Amino acid sequence: MRDVTGLKCILCGAAYAPQAYRYVCDHHGDEGILDVQYDYDALGKRFTLESVSQNTDRSIWRYAPLLPLDAPLTRQLRSKENQHPLFCVGWTPLYRARRLEQTLDLAAVYVKDEGRNPSASFKDRASAIGIVKAIEWHAPVIAAASTGNAASSLATLSASLGIKTIIFVPETAPQAKIAQLLIHGATVLPVQGTYDQAFDLCLEACRTFGWYSRNTGYNPYLSEGKKTAALEICEQLAWQAPDCIFVSVGDGCIIGGLGKGLRDLHTLGWIDHLPRLIGVQAAGSAALYNAWRDRTEQVTAVQADTLADSISVNMPRDRIKALRAVRDTNGAFLTVTDSEILEAMRILAQQAGVFGEPAGVASYAGLVQARENKLVDKRERIVVLVTGSGLKDVPGAMKTVTTPRSIPPTLDAVEKALSEPGR
Ligand SMILES: *Cc1c(COP(=O)(O)O)cnc(C)c1O
Ligand SMILES: [Zn+2]
Repeated sequence: MRDVTGLKCILCGAAYAPQAYRYVCDHHGDEGILDVQYDYDALGKRFTLESVSQNTDRSIWRYAPLLPLDAPLTRQLRSKENQHPLFCVGWTPLYRARRLEQTLDLAAVYVKDEGRNPSASFKDRASAIGIVKAIEWHAPVIAAASTGNAASSLATLSASLGIKTIIFVPETAPQAKIAQLLIHGATVLPVQGTYDQAFDLCLEACRTFGWYSRNTGYNPYLSEGKKTAALEICEQLAWQAPDCIFVSVGDGCIIGGLGKGLRDLHTLGWIDHLPRLIGVQAAGSAALYNAWRDRTEQVTAVQADTLADSISVNMPRDRIKALRAVRDTNGAFLTVTDSEILEAMRILAQQAGVFGEPAGVASYAGLVQARENKLVDKRERIVVLVTGSGLKDVPGAMKTVTTPRSIPPTLDAVEKALSEPGR
């Protein structure tokens, strides 16, 4: 927090002190999302390329000076809970995917596997910050609405810390994500309605009951957690920023956070250009794509319909940050169909060894399309962010493969089965 100068409304620029329970701007209701401001000159004097390279911590916490947290409290928590999942978030592998490079005829393709986080999705980056904030402010309850992963992440990371979590999910969320919530002891309220309805209900409940709100595009600290992925990508590439980063987009918080992280690094002088951010939406949930295409920040809600549940959103909550991240990096939005997503799931699993959930691999489906449309050039260095593990949605994965017939336990049957076409 030392170098945090305040919170600034992204619509009107009004400034606020970073106090407990200050989420949005007074002038704009839930739309007035705030952005955490830093004194980069002061920060850059203490936090240097050299200091970070000497840090042996392999998690998001290696970037603590760039996070809006109370440093002594974080240190104290950490000394007590060093082996806790909370301190094992981030520093996920960035694989060089040579077979994908051949398939797509590209100079370099890297896949960042966010399924390797403690709860198996990218959302841990934001939840970790939200939880430390809740501890800082002595909040007894932390609540979230979620398509599934934000909630399962919150439940996973806060289990054993003595914080009560209350979760609002659409009743249609995949079983594996609900299982994570229940097994970690969260209080779960499956809502008869859409994610958007669960979200509004959760905000209202937080206001009424005074719970701490871990809600995307509402709590300004969460995108600071999400930006750590951009910091990692650049560091893992020895500060040679890639040309393009492909990322799946629902509410827009991840892509907005990546934009923030890239700008931080550029302001500090640690990277020499901003990679283009390419936001990939499901064709059935494309409110941000539509607004980007129409060159407006006035986003119109859609009736979301896609099997990629984690990006199935009617009205993206972090829309302004998302649109600006793409605009400011000279990026683009794309849409992909559910069948392109399923195909991407199979290809990534078979050619890169990364099994992502449908929303997690939409990014790759976007790259395939971008290559066909010449949106990316063959000389470019590309990063594909895979935001969640495929084990979170096994029925989704089973749609893209053929289930083999069983055989009797004889060698004959083995030979016969292997000679069948399609084996
Ligand atoms: C939440 C999520 C996304 C989308 O992130 P937004 O911030 O809502 O745009 C993409 N993939 C997975 C797996 C997610 O859980
Ligand atoms: Zn405002």
